[in-house]
Amino acid sequence: MNRELPNRVLYLEDNSMDADLVRRTLAKQAPHVGLEVVSTLAEALGRLAPAVPEYEIILSDLRLPDGSGLELLAHVRERRLPVAVVILTGAGDHESAVSALKAGADDYVVKRADYRNHLIPTLAAALVRFRAEFANRARGLRVLYAEHNGFDIDLTRRHFAAQAPQIRLHIVDSGNAVLEALPAADGGSVPYDVVLLDYQLPGINALEIAKILRDERGLHLPVVLVTGQGSEDVVAEALRLGVADYVIKHERYLNQLPAILEHAHRQAQLIAERRKAETELQRFNAELEIQVEKRTAELKQSNEALLHSNEELQRFAYVASHDLQTPLRTVTSLAQLFQSLYGGRLDEQADELIGRVVEACHQMQSLVRDLLAYSRVESQAHPFRPTDLNIVCNAVLEHLKEAIRESGAEIVRGDLPTVAGDAVQLTQLLQNLVENAIKYRGDKPLRVTVEAERRGGDWVIAVRDNGIGIDPRHHEDIFEIFRRLHSQQAYPGTGIGLAICRRVAERHGGRIWVESSLGEGSTFYFALPAMET
Ligand code: ADP
Repeated sequence: MNRELPNRVLYLEDNSMDADLVRRTLAKQAPHVGLEVVSTLAEALGRLAPAVPEYEIILSDLRLPDGSGLELLAHVRERRLPVAVVILTGAGDHESAVSALKAGADDYVVKRADYRNHLIPTLAAALVRFRAEFANRARGLRVLYAEHNGFDIDLTRRHFAAQAPQIRLHIVDSGNAVLEALPAADGGSVPYDVVLLDYQLPGINALEIAKILRDERGLHLPVVLVTGQGSEDVVAEALRLGVADYVIKHERYLNQLPAILEHAHRQAQLIAERRKAETELQRFNAELEIQVEKRTAELKQSNEALLHSNEELQRFAYVASHDLQTPLRTVTSLAQLFQSLYGGRLDEQADELIGRVVEACHQMQSLVRDLLAYSRVESQAHPFRPTDLNIVCNAVLEHLKEAIRESGAEIVRGDLPTVAGDAVQLTQLLQNLVENAIKYRGDKPLRVTVEAERRGGDWVIAVRDNGIGIDPRHHEDIFEIFRRLHSQQAYPGTGIGLAICRRVAERHGGRIWVESSLGEGSTFYFALPAMET
């Protein structure tokens, strides 16, 4: 439970889900806080109208229906209100986070999945920081001045008392006293805003002091040097070492000094803010990188697991279908032997039964053969070679000679290209398509054409028939394994042919699709990348 936060927090948010989440987070982690949610910039400015605002901290979303959280911030800073402002930014929007910090926000919270965990600690820390800075500002500029010349000390003291009472000078007379007054910054606050050093200090030199403060003590305090006339070399060296500014002791140098000190302080504040914004950005980027790395590793792991299980599945399918062949062949032969020995010698029912057994055996053999062919597309692939599809098509037609003759089909082959591929698989692809064209013929005399067309970087091969056609509803699913649109009696088959075709086309970097409508014939297309010439 967090007690740092005041009893009232103003929250500027137009998204009711976010408002709800913050409300619930506060209720759990800091129940004493009364959250007052307003949804527009105008309403928030109204709440801040009193000279002494009732809120010490405001949480504001960046994007509002009537403006931006940055406008609210500008208003608060312009009026120098004692109010800390924390901005809520969208996930991945580092730029807004950085510009909010540059505009003087005390911190920001990114609306990421887990932001409720950071919200309260961020608000509390911002408030603590703001209170310290505000107290500093009210206290006036605190300057540590090291000067050993009593006359100059006196003059300076009187000048500042009269002309720049907002600057509080603490004067010491040696470099060692400066080092004593400014121990290393160990997270606590530093008691001065600017260090003013006379160059002619006895003992330790002013430039050395500047170096020790910065490099050994890690203090980013602006150092201003007071030098005598004619010390251009010293000044150049000092600026090179990171001294913020210098003043030369001439007649009216005391008139310039307050402005120089204030300027050095403002510059240092700007640099500190920029440094803070940069560190935030780095933190942000580092977190993002970790997230990306984590996600990539997870993806890689699941990819590997997937690949592994895919390979196993393929091996299994191959081994299973391969090993099923031998016992199946035996069963088929025995059933056929039984049929030839006892056919007609037992009763009619026995004849019918054994007939069905033989038929089922053949069907099973086709299934196992096709499954094996399907798994072989990946497991028994050959490397790609230039393959003349004219030769492939001629081999297919030769192979299907009998079926072509029986169906009385007229086959027309156009001029086909040579592509990079696996000749065995491309033969299988084309053969399945021509075989289907013959199998799914209608009443008209069958005409099948095989032709090719160049489309961009691909060759598109078309196998066109004038058969029964396919309902457009099934144009996608017929390429899935075991998907069939007809009964065994109407058209025998296993539903594996087109799945093999798709696998082959994809393995060749191509794709396959169909254009058809019922009764109008079908055209199966497959596209293969053309070879570089
Ligand atoms: P099978 O022919 O063994 O059933 P396929 O995978 O080769 O398996 O084809 C799947 C389905 O697509 C077939 O059952 C059939 O309904 C349909 N089909 C395939 N080719 C054609 C075609 N040329 N004409 C009409 N329908 C076809």
